[in-house]
Amino acid sequence: MPRPILATVHPEALRHNLQRARDCAPDARVWAVVKANAYGHGIERCFDALRSADGFALLDLAEAERLRALDWRGPVLLLEGVFEPRDLELCSRLHLWHTVHCTEQIDWLAAHKTQVPHRVFLKLNSGMNRLGFKPAAFRAAWARLNALPQVDEISLMTHFSDADGARGIAHQLAAFEAATADLPGERSLCNSAAILRHAAVALKSRSGEAATEVLASDWVRSGIATYGGAPDHPNRTAADWNLQPAMTLSSRLIGVQELETGDTVGYGSAFTADRPMRVGVVACGYADGYPRHAPTGTPILVDGVRTRVVGRVSMDMITVDLSPLDEAGHACGVGEEVVLWGRSESGAVLPVDEVAHAAGTISYELLCAVAQRVPFAAG
Ligand code: PLP
Repeated sequence: MPRPILATVHPEALRHNLQRARDCAPDARVWAVVKANAYGHGIERCFDALRSADGFALLDLAEAERLRALDWRGPVLLLEGVFEPRDLELCSRLHLWHTVHCTEQIDWLAAHKTQVPHRVFLKLNSGMNRLGFKPAAFRAAWARLNALPQVDEISLMTHFSDADGARGIAHQLAAFEAATADLPGERSLCNSAAILRHAAVALKSRSGEAATEVLASDWVRSGIATYGGAPDHPNRTAADWNLQPAMTLSSRLIGVQELETGDTVGYGSAFTADRPMRVGVVACGYADGYPRHAPTGTPILVDGVRTRVVGRVSMDMITVDLSPLDEAGHACGVGEEVVLWGRSESGAVLPVDEVAHAAGTISYELLCAVAQRVPFAAG
């Protein structure tokens, strides 16, 4: 018997979540963001469920090659563009669209000999201050690109830093509008948080103002929402946004211990029983990608019943409080289903956002961190 740990990817949830982006931005085309191996879900595993997307956005040329190997002939966008001049060759060969965010990338294009004209997304740094041209340099960059015979079409993009938070997007939207107002080309602005929180609002209000209309125009980029994560957890949950978990990480109880009052559990004796109780031992630890910093109290499902992690997460095991099941007369022992996040066989759901929040991180990190030793299945 293999060790009982499994990551299950749910194609119908991926389909549902992609449709949510379409519902929020019905006039836009949707990039399914599949960087980091589809946020840890596996590009090949997700491909069929996501093939109704208008395009796929990612970072690595190797991942772009994998999409082309699946016979995807539609748009593929490199979100950070090329990393060195020779990447342009493969870009041409695979017909990739690529972001241009710095002067060096324009220099490389200018020197590139190609039969295939390039389609580029010129990136504005509207306030995030990671990648992109500052507003003052944006037009000159656009004009340079526009003069290159290697470039066929220029689209315009930016990325929001606070679409999920209190600061919002108005300041970046205004910067984008000011820098691009009279430039031709398609636009791409929204990530998941902007799609759910702002594009949908813009759609409802239909204010007709260019500033809100541009939000959901042309192309939106749906990442975490596609995988069922709420971009603004804990303010809103995945259920609030009508998103479904696309991954279930499950395991089983491989041991049960009966504790007396005062007994401790695990490394560092980090948990002490304050009454007689049973704890279950789960075949999942930080070497599987479960967060080591998940403290006592982190939620977990045993046979569909919500309980909590107790004691320290170790490399291959975690320990869980079985009291809620015992008190309800819900018999459980070795072999019982445990859901670390996702959906249990009974239909109970534990959002990955809740586990991430308890561990002081975000769902993105947990999903991307599922370890190679964990087998995957579709279901
Ligand atoms: N667009 C860009 C440029 C990104 O870097 C990312 C992810 O970080 C996304 C879109 C998708 O973001 P999210 O997963 O929050 O939807």
